[in-house]
Amino acid sequence: HYPLRRQRQMCIRDRYYAIISQNADKLGGLVRNVLGFSKVEAGRKWYHFQETDVTKLVREEIANFQGDKASTGINIDARIAGDIPVLDIDRAAFSLAFANLLENAVKYSPVHGVILVKVRAEAASVLVDVRDEGIGIAPEEKDKIFDKFYQGMNTARGSSKGIGLGLALVKEIMEAHGGKVLVESKPGRGSTFSLVFPIQPRRR
Ligand code: ADP
Repeated sequence: HYPLRRQRQMCIRDRYYAIISQNADKLGGLVRNVLGFSKVEAGRKWYHFQETDVTKLVREEIANFQGDKASTGINIDARIAGDIPVLDIDRAAFSLAFANLLENAVKYSPVHGVILVKVRAEAASVLVDVRDEGIGIAPEEKDKIFDKFYQGMNTARGSSKGIGLGLALVKEIMEAHGGKVLVESKPGRGSTFSLVFPIQPRRR
């Protein structure tokens, strides 16, 4: 056993490590979004569409995400239908959009909230839903949250508020795929964001 003073020092050091690592994650996310935007604004030529098993990509992203945020105590449940057709998508852009939704689900949820990810096919679309049990979004804010730099009235967990780029980027990416992003929410009860991909895309 270590003496008490040494134990305290170790404890403080661990706290600093945790803070540094959280900030590094935040900065990493910010850089990813800013770079994502410059790519998106440079136009469609930067997208690299490829036939993709989106269910595999979703599973990989969830595993990456859980690896990064192992300490936050968030559970992610995945319900992935078996009949999902391959989609013609830009894999990096998809991952960026999906990661933004997962990050928000964590940021705007209680510490032990459950996040449910669903992949399902419906009529001519494939939907990727990210549902949280967090603070939710007021009806009058539902459209605004997709504007660049818009930040909602609600408060994020801890000090993890971003700069309001994430959802604007998600919207851009979905439109470039000929799809859209939808949101349903009950204030105080949670939100569901859905990435809707047309199976036969007519891209802009
Ligand atoms: P940021 O999180 O950096 O503020 P975003 O563009 O990702 O920016 O989100 C814009 C706003 O939408 C947030 O400030 C927040 O108010 C609201 N929001 C986004 N995702 C959620 C969510 N899952 N639950 C509740 N509010 C959300």
